[in-house]
Amino acid sequence: MYIYNEGNEQIYLRALKGADIAIWEWNMENNTLFLSNNFTNIIEHTGIDFKDLWDFIQKTAVEPDKVSAKNDLVFFINGNTSIYKSEFRISTNNGKIKSILIKGKAIKNPQGKIRLISGSINDITEKKSLEEHINYLAYYDSLTGLPNRFLFVNDLRTALINSQNGSLIFMDIDDFKLVNDTFGHDYGDLLLVIFSQLINSCIKDLGKLYRLSGDEFIILINKYNSYNKLSELCYHIFNYLKKPFEVKGDKIYITISMGITLFPEDSHDINELYKYADLALYHSKINGKSTFTFFQHEIFNSYRRKVNIEQELKNAVKNNEFHMLYQPQVDIIKNQIIGFESLLRWQNAKLGFVSPAEFIPIAEMTGNIVEIGDWVLNSVCKTIYEMKLKGHELKKISVNVSPIQLKKVGFADKFVNIYKKYGISPSQLEIEITEGTLIDLFSYKIKTINELLKKGVKVSIDDFGTGYSSLNYLTVLPISTIKIDKSFIDNIYHQKNKVIINCMVNLSKSLNYEIIAEGVETKEQLDLLSETGCNIIQGYYFSKPLTINEVEKTLMKKDGFGGV
Ligand code: C2E
Ligand code: CA
Ligand code: CA
Repeated sequence: MYIYNEGNEQIYLRALKGADIAIWEWNMENNTLFLSNNFTNIIEHTGIDFKDLWDFIQKTAVEPDKVSAKNDLVFFINGNTSIYKSEFRISTNNGKIKSILIKGKAIKNPQGKIRLISGSINDITEKKSLEEHINYLAYYDSLTGLPNRFLFVNDLRTALINSQNGSLIFMDIDDFKLVNDTFGHDYGDLLLVIFSQLINSCIKDLGKLYRLSGDEFIILINKYNSYNKLSELCYHIFNYLKKPFEVKGDKIYITISMGITLFPEDSHDINELYKYADLALYHSKINGKSTFTFFQHEIFNSYRRKVNIEQELKNAVKNNEFHMLYQPQVDIIKNQIIGFESLLRWQNAKLGFVSPAEFIPIAEMTGNIVEIGDWVLNSVCKTIYEMKLKGHELKKISVNVSPIQLKKVGFADKFVNIYKKYGISPSQLEIEITEGTLIDLFSYKIKTINELLKKGVKVSIDDFGTGYSSLNYLTVLPISTIKIDKSFIDNIYHQKNKVIINCMVNLSKSLNYEIIAEGVETKEQLDLLSETGCNIIQGYYFSKPLTINEVEKTLMKKDGFGGV
């Protein structure tokens, strides 16, 4: 290692040139500014004298950077920083913009006053443009050139800090996946580019459009949050989308769904606002798409309840939270109970009692219904077995079966195994399938139903009359029972309903099916029903669903309908 003396000036100068650095020294006592030779090469200014650093900044820095460049120097001279370091852009003689980094250290006199500041200056133009490019990639979407999620969060934060009134419009192209799957991803990409340009030209300066991911876009509006104005904007966007898109010579129509949330009304939290706009969008999707929805707390509450139910259902079987009730079905001529419908009940520690009308559709959606359905079957068969041990041979118990259970391969075998395990005759069991389930008469469902029918299990059609189905399947399937839906019984006073019920009764008689009226609550309904010839009734008029102990008591009564 060689140590150079201060006198080896030539070596220093060569090194400075090689490193593309210039040096300077500002003597504050006599206010002179020394600049090394290549200073002018770096800043590309000739023929100008700089009195001091202030003068240098004043004469070269571009307008937007001037204030911060001067501030950096003020802070240093005032002693706020021990090293002078400042980055700013300068304009060269011929108008080129360059970025420079200027650094320096002070030498003070014994009184602590700055005597001189000396330092260096570098050309960092290349580094800066690279940084800017990286910055661009980090904050802008490379496909559409739109600002991305990070910039969205930044801008929303700024709007919230400045307590602006504003709103978010979350949008998503309907069935975009279909476009990608049908025409390919290149086509989809092109569509996204055209779409973003179109929306941008539609919203003009009313808001700023960001691409969040895939086909998800969001508009941040920080000027207003009035329902009317926002609805107007949404309709305006829908209007723009009425014309077809021209992609690679094809004409393609697209629709979008939107979800809107307002700030600060709905929330002043970034994550919450985003979630709310997303929920409102989801609401638009499930309401048939091509529409917009303003976030309301009720949407959120119902969604949250759904999520809670979904969560709690996962462990409900394991935690023994279910039990069954049994509602009698009464033959009003013989005054006898001819069977019971088993109905599931759920008591959860967190949610309390939840109606099956609420949780069954959720369990069907998550697929949880399969596990729950197994539990129901087992529980019902076990009950029949236990009642038999006590001397009560139950004639018939019906079990509600979901279409999701029917779809599962091996359902019939599982069913058979369970009743065999408890030594029960299949004729004691009936499955209730809603009319809606039967409408999509897929072969696997028919096959399963037929297998069970062959074993001797009865099949009844639940909610009959609500499925808008053709009556054709009544002749295709050898079903045993039809259950007239409660909605007909509720309105049996209307002549038209009575006529319909009459038809159903005659139809089932000629096809040799049993017919049960559901949801009979009053004597009047009962009388009108018996006029039509429907003699088997299930409803609060006779009994609400009962616990198994209550069933036992009812069966032991010699009077009333204890005839099983
Ligand atoms: P559903 O199969 O149509 O069952 C009849 C519903 O009507 C039962 O409601 C019953 O309690 C009610 N009900 C009976 N008589 C009357 C009456 O006179 N007036 C009124 N207002 N209601 C009456 P629940 O128990 O709340 O069950 C609702 C639905 O949940 C059932 O409708 C069924 O679709 C489903 N469900 C119940 N248990 C099960 C089950 O074990 N498995 C499956 N997959 N679904 C079930
Ligand atoms: Ca039912
Ligand atoms: Ca029903």
